[in-house]
Amino acid sequence: MISAPNLLRRGCSLATTGLRRGTTAANSFSAAMTRRLRVLVDMDGVLADFEGGFLKKYQSRYPGEPFIELEDRRGFWVSEQYENRKPGLREKAISIWEAKDFFLDLDPIEGAVEAVKEMARLSNTDVFICTSPIKRYEYCPYEKYAWVEKHLGHEFLEQIVLTRDKTVVSADLLIDDRPDITGAELNPTWEHILFTACHNKQLLLPLPTRRLPSWNHDWKGILERKRSELNSSGQ
Ligand SMILES: [Mg+2]
Repeated sequence: MISAPNLLRRGCSLATTGLRRGTTAANSFSAAMTRRLRVLVDMDGVLADFEGGFLKKYQSRYPGEPFIELEDRRGFWVSEQYENRKPGLREKAISIWEAKDFFLDLDPIEGAVEAVKEMARLSNTDVFICTSPIKRYEYCPYEKYAWVEKHLGHEFLEQIVLTRDKTVVSADLLIDDRPDITGAELNPTWEHILFTACHNKQLLLPLPTRRLPSWNHDWKGILERKRSELNSSGQ
């Protein structure tokens, strides 16, 4: 039995649904005409030089310990490779990025600031900085915001997505130096473009993963190809 108020509610909702369907079709049409491209850009290793900043501070803090030259870095996790080099170095490595000012002091990757500013100025393009803070959160989240403001400007603070799981963020492209990006969503909406870093340059990628070797390469071509793919598939 459906009570009168519930019937009324249901009738209302059906009428609204019908209205919504018509509106949705019109919206889809106009959305297709002005389809915006949404790009997520990772921060560490793509905008901010995590590896270079780490090595500099590690050598200064632990001058007697072995270290790994950037050209010899392998694997995404710095702490794992250091631990393999010498047991006990994992904690020393972690202590570097858990320290105050580590993230704030990182230098920009060559060409990154100019490229992202230019990307944000492209028509029909939305750029978000999508970055995973470390779980020891005393300094990292604050410093990531401060870094963005310092290098990209105050207005870019609107474009930050802090998340430990990038698969749940909806976008067309994700430019990221981490080769394996997994999470709760098994089929993320974005296509991953692997940004080349010292730790991933030797990896053979499974097709169809594509690379952006540096910000001096044709990042605009990658965006335009994606835009035309989406347009031709009617998405
Ligand atoms: Mg990264």
